[in-house]
Amino acid sequence: MATITEEIQKRRTFAIISHPDAGKTTLTEKLLLFGGAIHVAGAVKSNKIKKTATSDWMEIEKQRGISVATSVMGFNYGDYKINILDTPGHQDFAEDTYRTLTAVDSVIIVVDAAKGVEMQTRKLMEVCRMRNTPVIVFVNKLDREGQDPFDLLDELESELKIGVRPLSWPINMGQRFKGVYNIYEEGLNLYTPSKQVVTESVEFKDINNPELEKYIGSEDASKLRADLELIEGVYPEFDVSDYLKGNIAPVFFGSALNNFGVKELLDCFVKIAPSPRPVQAVERVVCPEEANFSGFVFKIHANMDPNHRSCIAFVKVCSGKFERNANYKHVRNGKFMKFSSPTAFMAQRKSTVDEAYPGDIVGLPDTGNFKIGDTLTAGEELHFRGLPSFSPEMFKYIENTDPMKTKQLNKGIDQLMDEGVAQLFVNQFNGRKIIGTVGQLQFEVIQYRLLHEYGAQCKWEPISLYKACWIESDDAEALENFKKRKYQFMAKDKEDRDVFLADSNYVLQMAQTDFPKIKFHFTSEF
Ligand code: GDP
Repeated sequence: MATITEEIQKRRTFAIISHPDAGKTTLTEKLLLFGGAIHVAGAVKSNKIKKTATSDWMEIEKQRGISVATSVMGFNYGDYKINILDTPGHQDFAEDTYRTLTAVDSVIIVVDAAKGVEMQTRKLMEVCRMRNTPVIVFVNKLDREGQDPFDLLDELESELKIGVRPLSWPINMGQRFKGVYNIYEEGLNLYTPSKQVVTESVEFKDINNPELEKYIGSEDASKLRADLELIEGVYPEFDVSDYLKGNIAPVFFGSALNNFGVKELLDCFVKIAPSPRPVQAVERVVCPEEANFSGFVFKIHANMDPNHRSCIAFVKVCSGKFERNANYKHVRNGKFMKFSSPTAFMAQRKSTVDEAYPGDIVGLPDTGNFKIGDTLTAGEELHFRGLPSFSPEMFKYIENTDPMKTKQLNKGIDQLMDEGVAQLFVNQFNGRKIIGTVGQLQFEVIQYRLLHEYGAQCKWEPISLYKACWIESDDAEALENFKKRKYQFMAKDKEDRDVFLADSNYVLQMAQTDFPKIKFHFTSEF
């Protein structure tokens, strides 16, 4: 029997993030192949919610189904237990991705070698930086022409605002791609296009060994030697602790589609990536090795069957051992609960589990007890800090169009907000409800789900808003004064916090100048 410390040490819980199309799904699939979790390429379905699907609701429902199935993919690799947390590719669901990032211990970022750092990658990296999440970068699609690798490294550094350190290095690219030199393991990996698992690699401790010419030709050999010399000169020696602190991102090169460079990535990843680490709760730091169970809900997924309004709450185990049928405290409402059929996610299958360890994700069937961010413990009053809400990008009034169904509508809105689909603000002046989202698609999803899951009908009315700002002040009088002066633009969020609705950047700047004692925040936690 492994001890709890051993169980913790072997866990690697992470997410792969990328801009759509960089190769996240393909890389995920290859990792699962190595873990023996799947046996054929093509078995992993992308959970991308495609924009073209907006008019095809069955398609969205189908894709939501896929995204439950692929939410967590657990598998064993050597002595390690790996949990990959999937994130939606579509940017309209970026909030979902942000929250998933609260449940991982590290991240792999996939970048397309030709396109470099793209918008979505930049945003997600900001969230990683807020939490000091260690990141590894995989530069993908080396089998195609891409940017010069040194330029890519510079771009990664300036765009992602993190130091980089190549741990593998490409030998040419596109048609002339010959492979990578594995700096970390000191070996040469020759490229053989293949969609199967390949493990061929030649040990090459001394790069000056003339044997190198035999493998890659003299031109590429001297280029490789020069490149490596430059790397050693420019980049400091790789130090794992810099990576673990989130200061340095090791960089690997390869081609996910051809399963090239993926094993090197995985082998290095399991060695250096962190196992579950202590978590700062509001009350204290919680260590994974503690005897008592604690965990938090980072994602809620509604059931596909609209007739049964049950959900799955995804809980990340932070400390102790989670056990089936044990009594756990739902800290927000103070109730104790038992879970008779918690599910684990192994090799893309859901199955009931008896126990789970820190780093694991358990799915708890739920009928509306949980909200995102809820803490479960063995009895202690603990609150894990989630990720703050960001000011949404788009706002609309939500209006009831069926007066007989007001109750259903309100319940539906409440539950969808608890699920984290969007944010609700209630204008204090006229009592109207405003929904804020990061993308248009979410409005369509909300309307559809309110109708199909709650039997409620709504319509959207335009509101011109620039930002929602959470406000506070050390000076209670100044705060009251501001709220009075701006009463038409004051709202409450779901937690009853004061929010100022600025209809333009100009108005916001004026408010900031005119009311110096008020602090304006663009995230809900400060
Ligand atoms: P995601 O949106 O990040 O999940 O990207 P996908 O994994 O779905 O990949 C997007 C497209 O890029 C697909 O057509 C893949 O076949 C292709 N792709 C992924 N990896 C590679 C690669 O290494 N080389 C090439 N040429 N294409 C790739």
